[in-house]
Amino acid sequence: MPLHCAAPDAPKRFASAPLTRCAACGDWMVAPLMSEFDAAGEIRHHWVCESCGEVSCTTVVLAAAESE
Ligand SMILES: [Zn+2]
Repeated sequence: MPLHCAAPDAPKRFASAPLTRCAACGDWMVAPLMSEFDAAGEIRHHWVCESCGEVSCTTVVLAAAESE
């Protein structure tokens, strides 16, 4: 039986956290430990590298917030 996997087409503004590399060891980090939304239109992703334990944070500014 073939496996079908489809996700609804989400607008790009709702894209998930981008893949990022650890600043300490360069390994890929695929999912943030936690994400938070700021009412000003920013999403902060908190990362912990599974390889070395480095803690970091990235910020995504939503397009609507940039144009305001
Ligand atoms: Zn690391």
